[in-house]
Amino acid sequence: MCYATEQAEKLNKIEIRNWNGDKRPKLNGWAPGNYISRCFICDEQFIGDKGAIHCADCAYGTKEHP
Ligand SMILES: [Zn+2]
Repeated sequence: MCYATEQAEKLNKIEIRNWNGDKRPKLNGWAPGNYISRCFICDEQFIGDKGAIHCADCAYGTKEHP
């Protein structure tokens, strides 16, 4: 089990996007890592690099809007 998964399980009352860690390469404000951040586009929490400001789905333009 990776660190990000353990950290996310401790915070399991919070819904986090990509909480098992998205491994896509750095792009458009996204970068993979082990920190919990909040996306500036969709305002959801995700696991990524300490300096990442966008979740991977927003950075790659693949986020589905309900
Ligand atoms: Zn997002």
